[in-house]
Amino acid sequence: MNTVVAQAPGRINLIGEHTDYNLGFAMPIALAERTTVRFEPDGTDRIFLRSKEEGDGSSFALSARPGDVEGWAAYPAGVIWALSAAGHDVVGGTMEVSSDVPIGAGLSSSAALECAVLLAMNAATATTMDRSTVARIAQRGENDFVGAPTGLMDQLASLNGEPDRALLIDFDSTSVRPVEFDLSAHGLVLLVVNSNAAHQHSTGEYASRRESCNRASRTLGVDSLRRVQGQNILDRIENEVDRRRVRHILTENQRVLDSAQAMADGDFRRLGALMAQSHVSMRDDFEITTPHIDLIVDSLLSHGALGARMTGGGFGGCVISLVPAAHVEAMSASVTEDIADAGFPAPTVFVARAAAGAQVCTDP
Ligand code: ADP
Ligand code: MG
Repeated sequence: MNTVVAQAPGRINLIGEHTDYNLGFAMPIALAERTTVRFEPDGTDRIFLRSKEEGDGSSFALSARPGDVEGWAAYPAGVIWALSAAGHDVVGGTMEVSSDVPIGAGLSSSAALECAVLLAMNAATATTMDRSTVARIAQRGENDFVGAPTGLMDQLASLNGEPDRALLIDFDSTSVRPVEFDLSAHGLVLLVVNSNAAHQHSTGEYASRRESCNRASRTLGVDSLRRVQGQNILDRIENEVDRRRVRHILTENQRVLDSAQAMADGDFRRLGALMAQSHVSMRDDFEITTPHIDLIVDSLLSHGALGARMTGGGFGGCVISLVPAAHVEAMSASVTEDIADAGFPAPTVFVARAAAGAQVCTDP
């Protein structure tokens, strides 16, 4: 049996946070940073795992079920369980994982791992399926095996990425439309400030945001906030907290569509303004930011970023900003200083670009 190698990137969401499970819109890019899975099938009924980042020595049976596998191995095991549950072939062997996607930083190292495992397994079994099916199977593994109730954005972004394109995703139809996003042509870069505050305690908060959105949908008599139409919608939600949660989702969906238009117009000042508004909405209405993250956003804006916002599910992770290329070094130094002055841990600052999506490497 031949060795196969598959790679899948992490992602940055430019705008559209917590909209995926509300069947709204988001606009991620796939990153150049990616996870590689080297799979040597051996025809047994077990998978042996090694990860350069998370350590050696774990294995699980192809028949493993939710609850059977602990630690990071649950991600590959979940994908393989979901693949098998959907009626596809799986084979045993050894998987070696390595990655340059920061782990637990909101850049979706989890989806990168899932998609790389899934593409490697499909290549080994000569199974073909379209990308949205791959995304759904990976998501099912994360939701029902790992137990993380995440939406579909991370997998769709990792699978569909294109160089210098953002992806306008409509989660109602799961359609993905590439939108030109060539910042270098406009003298700009996407500067990422990783707070290095892992979003560890976010699972419960994430679930409670989902519950707020579901409760409000029931109050409004719709199956999803995407179906909400008409005037004075917010007035119909009595619960004050739920009302703000819904306001974030509805305004955020509009900001995603406006951002796609701004990109098409090459209007990056407008895009920056929409990013800044998105952050305020996440901070005040959805309440998923932290003082540490807010400080980074304020610092970037005060030093001349066109826009800045937290990206990812919240409670830590990364802040992204649109910055003139000529100012990157000065801006990085100023933000790092502001963060140190406020007593928070040192950030990692890097420039991100929109890169290609997941792929099987033809030459392992
Ligand atoms: P994020 O997706 O934002 O990076 P998550 O908490 O969703 O954060 O996923 C991170 C988890 O995914 C890690 O704790 C680990 O279990 C698993 N993981 C991601 N990348 C790797 C890797 N290269 N090797 C092993 N496990 C990984
Ligand atoms: Mg994740």
